[in-house]
This record gives sequence, structure tokens and C-alpha cells, in this order.
Amino acid sequence: MPVINSGVDADTLNLADTHEVFNQSLALENYNLFSSDLALQQALKANGGVDEAALSAYGERCGRADVIQWGFEANDNKPQLDTHDRFGHRVDLVRFHPAYHQLMNMALSAGIHSGPWRKGAKHAHVQRAALSYMQSQTDAGHGCPLTMTFASVPTLKLTPSLADTWLPKILENDYQSDNIPYFEKRAVTIGMGMTEKQGGSDVQANTTSATPLSGRGSGALYVLNGHKWFLSAPMCDAFLMLAKTERGLSCFLVPRWREDGQKNGLYLQRLKNKMGNVSNASSEVELRQAHGWMVGDEGRGVPAIIEMVALTRFDCMVGSSAGQRQAVVQAVHHARNRQAFGARLIDQPLMKNVLADLQLEVEGSLALTMRMARALDNADDPAEQLLMRLGTAVGKFWICKRTPGHAYEAMECLGGNGVIENCIMPRLYREAPINAIWEGSGNIQALDVLRAIAKTPAVLEQWFAELASSAGFFPDLDRAVEALQDAFKKLRDPACQARQLVEQLALTMQASLLVRYAPSAVAEAFIRSRLAGRQAIYGCLPDGLDLGVILERVLPEQY
Ligand SMILES: Cc1cc2nc3c(=O)[nH]c(=O)nc-3n(C[C@H](O)[C@H](O)[C@H](O)COP(=O)(O)OP(=O)(O)OC[C@H]3O[C@@H](n4cnc5c(N)ncnc54)[C@H](O)[C@@H]3O)c2cc1C
Repeated sequence: MPVINSGVDADTLNLADTHEVFNQSLALENYNLFSSDLALQQALKANGGVDEAALSAYGERCGRADVIQWGFEANDNKPQLDTHDRFGHRVDLVRFHPAYHQLMNMALSAGIHSGPWRKGAKHAHVQRAALSYMQSQTDAGHGCPLTMTFASVPTLKLTPSLADTWLPKILENDYQSDNIPYFEKRAVTIGMGMTEKQGGSDVQANTTSATPLSGRGSGALYVLNGHKWFLSAPMCDAFLMLAKTERGLSCFLVPRWREDGQKNGLYLQRLKNKMGNVSNASSEVELRQAHGWMVGDEGRGVPAIIEMVALTRFDCMVGSSAGQRQAVVQAVHHARNRQAFGARLIDQPLMKNVLADLQLEVEGSLALTMRMARALDNADDPAEQLLMRLGTAVGKFWICKRTPGHAYEAMECLGGNGVIENCIMPRLYREAPINAIWEGSGNIQALDVLRAIAKTPAVLEQWFAELASSAGFFPDLDRAVEALQDAFKKLRDPACQARQLVEQLALTMQASLLVRYAPSAVAEAFIRSRLAGRQAIYGCLPDGLDLGVILERVLPEQY
């Protein structure tokens, strides 16, 4: 019998157990992302009658431990580029971890890319936004090809001959990752190529050229030469790309395999080594004699692709709202399961203040996002069109821009554990800035708001008409709306002030929506913290608010 130094024998003290592990939180898994999220349920009810049973079933799936694990595996194992096969043939193939394919299969089978374009669904954009909101919480990266495939549809419809071939394959609720030509596939995905080295926001600086191969104009086949500095999801079956003809910037559908079954002239140079969005491959590509069909009219490339971009911007709102939601539910779950100084973190007043403030951000993001989903569902209504024109730019600017600070603050709620790669917080943190940068960075969105107002003043009138429906309930909100109307009248240097204006457009609309359907505790806290006073950091909510009601909406105590 071995004797240890203290003289205690090994039967008394197991050498492997140095201490008991206690007061550590548990993994948040096997929970339902729909039924646990009261704010989501209420935002959906306010914006259309969704199929709650279907959403609940999907929410249960997204919260399963194995699906959560796919999110980790798809990010822990970066996509790998093979430019050539082992025998030296050019292949331009990206290999993904199986978990990425599982996530893609799950989302495409659920129709996250197709729902609103299939016939018969009434509140299809709201329903789809809810599915996407939950899916994105498992992993944001694979959301990129889902969004681009979804958003490509209005652009492709501009050229019926292309739509006839491609839309049935795009709208198939299936995932086919096989590296075969599009005409042999029943289900395809679509990417987008606009950004070049010398200009991203300023696409007029594009130098990629297109010359006619057979015929000219919409639907005709062209040959493209040049490059794209960012081309995400390069294993998509085709890409909507901008290139210049002698009549100016035009839009093209460039397949990965040519119409004659040859590999098309898309040469992947390398994959971007990104700080976030790791599960998604983003490539640099050169186009050498690449075949592509013109979409829309010659020289009208920007109006054609903007149909797609309007929807990818909307999806940035969905994705950033989802990132915020996942961050706050992790933080609240942790605070319920961790004690410090003799009490649960969730019961300590200052932690409550921080967590409730983080949830208020989610409430505002979700309210604006789902309101815009409703506008998409009613796009035939001119008033809804006006609201949407401003709303996607305002929402893309504000929600995406608020997300990095939110992710950091939620991470801090978990203390040191929040920084460790075996939990989702570092991934949420690294993902947070990306939605703000792509699809038109912050300044571009703010300037777009001004451009829309200058071109169609009715967009601003409609915004204020919508705000009027919540007038008279909270004097602080009424004052903020008046101040904003005044600011627009007295503008001296609009471009320089654009961010301030857009911030106020966002906050007043978020507040107005919450006044209309959220519990008054939520609306009051939102208005007092964001319109009556300005806070530099989270966790400075004024006193006298009912924080318990707000926290219950993150994750009910008895859940
Ligand atoms: C992960 C990732 C994936 C991407 N995938 C794709 C893809 O699949 N397809 C694709 O086409 N692109 C893609 N992009 C590119 C992305 O859309 C661009 O990076 C973005 O549009 C900005 O363009 P830029 O990088 O050239 O920056 P710039 O256009 O040079 O802008 C730099 C900064 O200047 C600001 N700015 C520009 N003009 C003005 C102005 N007039 N006044 C004030 N400020 C201004 C911008 O807001 C920005 O902050 C991707 C980017 C990332 C990060």
C-alpha cells in the first residue's frame, strides 16, 4: 500500500481528484430557440401570423447539442483550397468539414433560401426571417451562401430566359454539394462578385470587362476577363457579377461550369484568412475568358444587382440581431448558474442592469428587423415600399454597428470563461463586425439614407407617418421625434451629419415599434435609456425600471 507524504493512505485521498468542481455553469444545449425566446414570439405575432408549430420544431432542432456541435466543427476546421488535383489538373475546389455540409443541408432543406419565393405563403418573409434568425445562432458563416441564394431571385427574374433555367433549381429545398455542372443538378446555390481591389463600395471603379460571345444584351452570352478581390462561397454553382461592357457596368450570371460542360474560367487565387466568418470560404478569384450571361439591361448592372443587395442588407439585419440574441441568452444562462459573493449573478443588481440593457438592444434590433420583413411581405403596397427603402439602410447601419460592443459586453458577463474558444462567445465576438462591413459599410448605408430622402422625399414622410402611430404614450419619444424632424429641417452639412441622423431614425423607430407591442416595461426602459439620455456603455439603465420583466423575455426562469 503506497503511503503519501502527509502520511494519509491512497484509499482516503484519490490522487486524481485534487478538488471538487462546483459553481460552474452548464452548456446551454438541448433547448428550443423559439419557445425560449419570448421577444421573438412577440415580434412575430406583431408582424404576421406565422406558423408557430413549424418554428418551434425548427427551434428545437437548432438548439440540439449535435447541431450546436456542427457550428463548432465547421469553424474549428477551416475550409481548404485545392487549386490543382494531385496530378496537376486545375480544379479550384474548396474542401469543407462535413459539419458545414450538414448545416447547409439543414438550412436549405428547411427552405431558408426559398420560402418567400414559393407560392402560397402569406407571411413568408417574416416566417423565413425567424428561421434564419435561429439558424444563424448555430453558425453565422454558412448564412452567407444561404443569403446570396435567397437574394439572387429578384435579380435573376429580370431576365426570364435565365430565370426559367435557374429558378427551379434555386427554389428546390435541397442541398447538392456535388462538383458537377449546374444542368446536371436539381439544387443549386448562388454567390455574388462585385468587390475588386481598386474599389469595393465604389463599384464604378470596377475594371473587369465583358465582351459579347453570341448576341448582345439581356440573356446573351459574354466573355469576362478580370478579377474579384472578394468572392465568398466560391463553391456556389453560379455568381452574379459586375463587369464593364462598352455601354458601362452590367450584371452577369457566371456559372462555375460552362454551358458546354467545361470548367469555366474562374481561377481561385487563395482563400482569405479571416478573423471571423471562418466556416464560410471567401476567395480571391481571377476571371480568364469566363463565360457569363447578361442579367438585366446592358449598362444597367447596378440597378440589376441592387435588387439582390437590398435583400442581402436585410439579411445583415437578421444575422446581427441573431448574433445579439445568442450572446445575451448565453450571458443570462451563465448568470443564472453562477454565484459570486453569496448570490446568483442574475440576482445582483448591477449584473441585472447589464443583462437587461443587452436584452433591450435585442428587442430593438428584432423589432426593426421583423417590421422590415413585414414590409417585404407587403411589397405591393406603396407605403410599405417607402418604409422599406429607408428601413433596410437604417437597420443595416444601426443593428450591425451596435453588435460588436454588444458581443463584447455579453462576453464579459461570462468572466474568463467567455474568452475561451470552447464556448461560442469568441466566435460571436469575431463575427460581430462583419455584417457592418460587407454589403455596404456603415458610411455607405448612412449616405444611402440621405440619397433616398433626396431622391424620394416621401420615404421620410412615410417614416414619420409610421412613428405617429405611437405618439402620445411616452413624452420622451415624442420629443425625440420632434427633435429629429427639426434636425432634418435645419440640416447644414447632411453628409457630415449622416450618422447622427440615421442613429435617431433607428432609435425612434425601434422605440415606436416596442411601444406598440412590447410590454410597457420594455418600451419604457428602451426609451429612457436610449432617447431620454445617452449611454456610452451597457449597464447604465436608470433606476425605477422593471428589469425582471425584461430578463424573463431572454430565457424564462422556469424554462
Ligand atoms: C468576409 C467578407 C466577405 C466578403 N464577400 C464578398 C463577396 O462575396 N462578394 C463581394 O462582392 N464582396 C465581398 N466582400 C467585400 C465587401 O463587400 C467590401 O469589403 C465592402 O463592400 C467594402 O469595400 P472595400 O473593402 O473596397 O472598402 P472601401 O470601399 O474602400 O471602403 C473603406 C471605408 O471607406 C468608407 N467609405 C467609402 N466611401 C465613402 C464615402 N463616400 N464617404 C465616407 N466614407 C466612405 C466605407 O464605409 C468603409 O468604411 C466581402 C468582405 C468581407 C469582409
